[in-house]
Parts: sequence; C-alpha cells; structure tokens
Amino acid sequence: MQDLKGKTAIVTGASRGIGREIALLLAKRGADVAINYVSREADANAVAKEIENLGSRALTIKADLSQMEAGRELIRKVQSEWGHIDILVNNAGITRDKAMKNLTDADWTEVLDTNLGSVYATCSEVLPIMMGQKYGRIVNITSFVGQAGNFGQANYAASKGGIIAFTKTLALEMARHNITVNAIAPGFTETEMLAQVPEEIRQKIMSRVPMGRFGLPEEIAKAVVFIAAEGDYITGQQINVNGGVYM
Ligand code: NAP
Repeated sequence: MQDLKGKTAIVTGASRGIGREIALLLAKRGADVAINYVSREADANAVAKEIENLGSRALTIKADLSQMEAGRELIRKVQSEWGHIDILVNNAGITRDKAMKNLTDADWTEVLDTNLGSVYATCSEVLPIMMGQKYGRIVNITSFVGQAGNFGQANYAASKGGIIAFTKTLALEMARHNITVNAIAPGFTETEMLAQVPEEIRQKIMSRVPMGRFGLPEEIAKAVVFIAAEGDYITGQQINVNGGVYM
C-alpha cells in the first residue's frame, strides 16, 4: 500500500531500534523519510539505503537533539531540501537510570533535554510549516513509564510524562489547523535500550508483562504509522502498545 506517496516524514533517532522500523514502514507506505541520528552514521546510511531500495527518497541528518538549536536546524534542513514536512515522529530518546538518591544533575539535564527538550524544539520549528500547509501529523514517542513511573527512572519518567502533557496541549492548539498530535507509549521493547538492562532484571521485568514477552520495534512502528497515515480524526491521544504491562 503506497498511501503515503508524495508525503515527507522526519523520524528522529532513526538509525536503529524503534525509530529505524518506523522509518522503514513509512517508506514501505510510500513516504520520503529523513533519518536523524547522533552518532551511528553507518547505521543511518544503511536505513537510507533500504528506503531508497523501496523506491522512496531518503535523507540522513546528523543532529544532537539534546541541543534545541540542532532540533530546529534539522527541521529547516528537511524543509529546504523537500519543501514540505507532512509527518514528524519524535522518537529519539535516552535513559540514564539510577535510583533518585544517586541521580546527578547531569543525569537529569541530559535526559530531559534529549527526550523532552527535543520534542519542544522540533515542534516549535515545524508548526509554522504545517500550519501553512494546513496539514500535519506529529507522533511523539513516550513510554508507559511516563504514566506509571518506574523504579530508577525519575528523570526518564518525568521526560516521558512531560511528552504526554505537551502532546495534549499541542493537539488542542493545533486541531483547527488540521494538525494532529498524538503520543505512542511503548512498553518494554527489544532494542539496545532494553539490552542495557542486566539479564536478571530483564527476567523480572518480563514477569510483569501479561503477554509474557517484550514488544518488537515493528509492533510499535505499526501503531505510529497507523496514526500518521490513517488517524485523520485522532488527536491528543496516547496509545499504549505494551503487551498489557500498564492498563
Ligand atoms: P535505542 O535503540 O537506544 O535507539 C535510540 C535512537 O535515538 C538512536 O537512533 C540514537 O542515535 C538516537 N539518539 C540518542 N540520543 C540522541 C540525540 N542526542 N540526538 C539525536 N538522536 C539521538 O532506543 P529505542 O529503544 O529504539 O527507543 C526509541 C524511543 O522509544 C525512545 O524515545 C525511548 O524512550 C522509547 N521507548 C523505548 C522502550 C524500549 O523498551 N526500548 C520503551 C518505551 C519507550 P544513534 O544511533 O546515532 O546513537
């Protein structure tokens, strides 16, 4: 199905993990996709190659989204290259997990700037473009942790909870411009982010998941692409894709 032919999309943190699968699925549906990354250039180029093999255009753009100006510049580059931006997926995210008593100011700032500051920066730059087009689909990747909290993740939970509140507010402000803003909240998903967790803790986490397994990045991507491609009357929502770990 090539229903996104002629549309352009930006996916932040698309060199691997969930972002990579989102970028590839958008391209399979026909969209041209700009792939943002911060360090893994070869991985980003590999995603671009796959997208081109699918018959879509790809751009790879290095930008450290912990810096707001870099987020703004990312949007400006895609706009100047392609002349329109239809879909923005804010996916880039990091963890710096520690119990609160050990958390440093740097752990706090790095996670809040990368996960939440980046969403503010890209949105604020893309909104005038989307308002001019009278069309836009913004999907922000949050986490069930932003709703439920999680031991050792005060900084991450705050950033993801912030994304949910930001998403709802932007949805209200943008609805009359035909710009929808939604959040997808994955549960534990098989990527390098989860691979950082020691095996013993992974097993404990798994026992909390009613479906008895971790999610796959492709399963998150399907929900993102559904919202972006078919969610014309869906806005201000957070959609859980989490195997039942939080209901
Ligand atoms: P991942 O495998 O660790 O990949 C992270 C991606 O973000 C990479 O493409 C990385 O680029 C990019 N990135 C990191 N810091 C960046 C920065 N400062 N500027 C720009 N890009 C940056 O992560 P993931 O598991 O796919 O997670 C994707 C999103 O899903 C995140 O927002 C995460 O919080 C959320 N999520 C994940 C899970 C899970 O269990 N995995 C659960 C809930 C929510 P490089 O490759 O260049 O380093």
